[in-house]
Amino acid sequence: MSDIHQLGVADLAAAIAAKQTSAVEAAHHLLTRAQQHASLGAYLAFNEEATLAQARAADARIAAGERGPLLGVPLAHKDIFVTTDFPTTAGSRMLLGYQSPFNATVVQRLADAGAVTLGKLNCDEFAMGSGNDNSAYAPAHNPWDKQRVPGGSSGGSAAAVAARLVPAATGTDTGGSIRQPASFTGITGIKPTYGRCSRYGMVAFASSLDQAGPMARSAADCALLLSAMAGPDIDRDSTSLDHSAEDYSLALSQPREGASATQPLKGLRIGLPAEFFGAGCAPDVLAAVRAALAEYEKLGATLVDISLPRTELSIPVYYIIAPAEASSNLSRFDGVKFGHRAAQYDDLADMYQKTRSEGFGPEVQRRIMIGTYVLSHGYYDAYYLKAQQIRRLIAQDFQQAFTQCDVIAGPVAPTVAWKIGEKSEDPLANYLADVYTLSTSLAGLPGMSVPAGFGAGRMPVGLQLVGNYFKEGELLRTAHAFQQATDWHLKRPEGF
Ligand code: GLN
Repeated sequence: MSDIHQLGVADLAAAIAAKQTSAVEAAHHLLTRAQQHASLGAYLAFNEEATLAQARAADARIAAGERGPLLGVPLAHKDIFVTTDFPTTAGSRMLLGYQSPFNATVVQRLADAGAVTLGKLNCDEFAMGSGNDNSAYAPAHNPWDKQRVPGGSSGGSAAAVAARLVPAATGTDTGGSIRQPASFTGITGIKPTYGRCSRYGMVAFASSLDQAGPMARSAADCALLLSAMAGPDIDRDSTSLDHSAEDYSLALSQPREGASATQPLKGLRIGLPAEFFGAGCAPDVLAAVRAALAEYEKLGATLVDISLPRTELSIPVYYIIAPAEASSNLSRFDGVKFGHRAAQYDDLADMYQKTRSEGFGPEVQRRIMIGTYVLSHGYYDAYYLKAQQIRRLIAQDFQQAFTQCDVIAGPVAPTVAWKIGEKSEDPLANYLADVYTLSTSLAGLPGMSVPAGFGAGRMPVGLQLVGNYFKEGELLRTAHAFQQATDWHLKRPEGF
């Protein structure tokens, strides 16, 4: 088969099961394709031998009569998930050459389902960033316009899926890092409810916010991955929710009560927060989002005006809490236990200082300093505690909103993908661009990005959908209904 790279997860699994291709052929094809497009900077590591061994094992399971929605399907992982078959760097020099003795739970569950790992994907250092330009190794490029960022921090995952280097990938979202890169590259991604996917083996950034999720070309493919990834892992992750795994694909085909063939979303109330549709959002993005919402009305949904009054506060709140947790999590990188150690030093304190100055990039160092500051005696109450209090109010705002609507919709980001380098020197400009994704993360709610059209420079625009706790199935169904009626998710960048 020559067009393997154009197939999504479900189609590729079906082609493998029907013996039109094999797991080995698919893996081979996509490894070659990844090399051809190495200039995108999507991948950080391969291990061809390990990939082909996994593919042979999947083919053997198929030959023995086993079937499964991910059996033999090639995937790739954000380089924030630890893996035994590949090195893990978290996009940082600090972890250059680090080899994990175990697989992250998410990686292991996808492997158990028969998925084949093609390699590790580029990301911002320790998942801190919005453009993948904080990767210590190389920027990743947006296949729609290589001069532009693919978004971040899961930029490599987004670039690889959009460029048809892999049918789906894992990502992580602490404050938007699945939804924003999905929006910037015209793919579909979902961040589940906090605690739905195990954080075991995910290199920690901000533990009360970090959450894994799938990135693919359709909601249906995301459902296939999430069904395998999610579920309790209580022995290994104390924040894992004791809520058994669901078959999200089933949710896609379950009609809503009162729905009809032409109006599959009849009765669905979509809340539009006034704060997401103001002057802060670029007109081209708003136009695409509004057109998508008009499509939702045709599908039977009703649009309801709501308010999330503390949306703007989510920026200072997140940029206090996330660095605070990061400063604590990253203290383990001391030159003794993991990764890099300075070659020359005078004493222990000097070793710590040189190791951390050499190993961490500027954005990570900035966050460690901010985090240490807001946690320090005398500032804790003024900053960290205050941020925690407002975080609770932000979560309450959502619960208030969900008394008026079933899902919340709006833009994912205020603009389309920007030019590489445009915001590199200005951390605040990066932070401000997270305004529509941070509040969902602070509240621990599930959110997704669905391709909704194009904006300035013919760059993709995503529609953000946010649901209440555990409403991943409803979100995926809402996205799937849109993708049955539109073809934005099928558009691909020229040359790919
Ligand atoms: N852009 C946000 C940050 O820099 C979110 C990153 C993420 O979700 N990992 O922290």
